[in-house]
Amino acid sequence: MNKKDYYEILGVSKNATDEEIKRAFRVLAKKYHPDVNKEEGAAEKFKEIGEAYQVLSDKNKRAQYDQFGHAAFQNGGASQGFDMGDIDLDDILSSIFGGSFGGGFGSFSDAFSGFNTRGKRGSRATRGDDLLMKVKLTFEESINGCKKDIRVNVVEECDKCNGTGGFGEVKCQMCGGIGVIREQQRSLFGIVETQKTCPECKGTGKTYKEVCPDCGGEGRVKKNKTLSVNIPAGVFNGSQLRLSGKGGAGSNGGSNGDLYLEFEVMEHKYFERENDDIYLEVPITITDAILGCKKEIPTLNGNGYIEIKPGTQNYTKLKLKGKGVKGVNSKTAGDMYVVINIIMPTKLTKKQKDLLLELAQTDLENESEFKEFNKALK
Ligand SMILES: [Zn+2]
Ligand SMILES: [Zn+2]
Repeated sequence: MNKKDYYEILGVSKNATDEEIKRAFRVLAKKYHPDVNKEEGAAEKFKEIGEAYQVLSDKNKRAQYDQFGHAAFQNGGASQGFDMGDIDLDDILSSIFGGSFGGGFGSFSDAFSGFNTRGKRGSRATRGDDLLMKVKLTFEESINGCKKDIRVNVVEECDKCNGTGGFGEVKCQMCGGIGVIREQQRSLFGIVETQKTCPECKGTGKTYKEVCPDCGGEGRVKKNKTLSVNIPAGVFNGSQLRLSGKGGAGSNGGSNGDLYLEFEVMEHKYFERENDDIYLEVPITITDAILGCKKEIPTLNGNGYIEIKPGTQNYTKLKLKGKGVKGVNSKTAGDMYVVINIIMPTKLTKKQKDLLLELAQTDLENESEFKEFNKALK
C-alpha cells in the first residue's frame, strides 16, 4: 500500500520546526476530529494526522522517518503499527494547548463539546476490517488467469434488523434521546459541566423494544460467503489482489474494509518463473550437442522446436523471445530461456564403447581451451 508522506499530511515542509509541526497538527486535528467532522473520510484523515504527528513530533522517530521513510516503522520495532487507540489524544492536545483551553480548567475533551477520545463512542463511523486470505494457484492458473470461488468469513450488516440491532424504535430513556449525559461537578473553580456519551444508546439517542435475535443487538453478524473472483493472468507467487469493500462491514455508516487475496503459486515440474521470464532445462545427448539437432520442447503454449547448433556447450542458454509470461502489469510478455543440460551416458553397449574408443584415437584437443590449459603444465 502506498502511504502518504507525513510532512504532506500535515502540510509542512521537510525542515519545519517543532513549533510549525505542532501548529499544523492543532489546526488539522480540530478540523477532522470525527466528533466534529461528520464528513465521509474524516475519521481516516484524523487517524492519518495523528499518526503523522506522533512520528514528526518525536525527535527519534522523525530522524528515523527522514532516513528510511515509512519502512522505518514496518516489520517489527516498538513503533509497529499505529492505532489511534494507543495515542492518547487528550494528552497530545492538552500538551499542545497547555491546559489553558476552555478557561484553564478541565481537559480538552470536556471543553470541546463531546470531544471524547478516551471512551469508544458507539456512534462513531468505523471502517470495517481488512482481511487477508491466501489462495493456492497451480502454475498454469497463475500464468493464464482463472476464476476461483473463494469462501470467506466476513462480518456483515444483519439482514433481519438491517443493522439497527432491534425492532420497535423508542427514545432512549437514559439520555432522553440526545445521546449524551451531562454531569455537573463541583470544583475549586465552581460548577463544571461535563458530558459523556450515553452508554445505553451509545450516542444514538434511540433504543429498541425488542433486541434482534439474529445479531443479539450488535447489528452485525458473521457470514460465510462465497465470492467468485476473476484472477488475472500473470500473477506472481506472493502478490496480492485487493478486492475493495469485500472485507469486514463498517459500522455506523463507516465504509467496508478490503479483502486482500495473497497468491501462493505451486511449483511447476519443469518450468521456473523469474519475473516475466520462464526457464526450462532441456536434457540432450552428447551426440546432439556435438552434431546439433532439432529438439522438441514444451512451452507455455504448446510444444515447439528449438535448434541446437553443432558444438553446443553444457548450460548454454537459448532465448526464445516473447515466449515468457505476460505479467499483470506488463505491456509485453517476457522471454523463455532454454538451458541445455548435456547428459553423459553411463551405460554403454559394447558397440557404443567401441565407437567412442575409435573417436578417442582422433585429436579432440583442438579447441583453444585445451591449448590455454596445457600452458599451465610445466
Ligand atoms: Zn441514550
Ligand atoms: Zn440483527
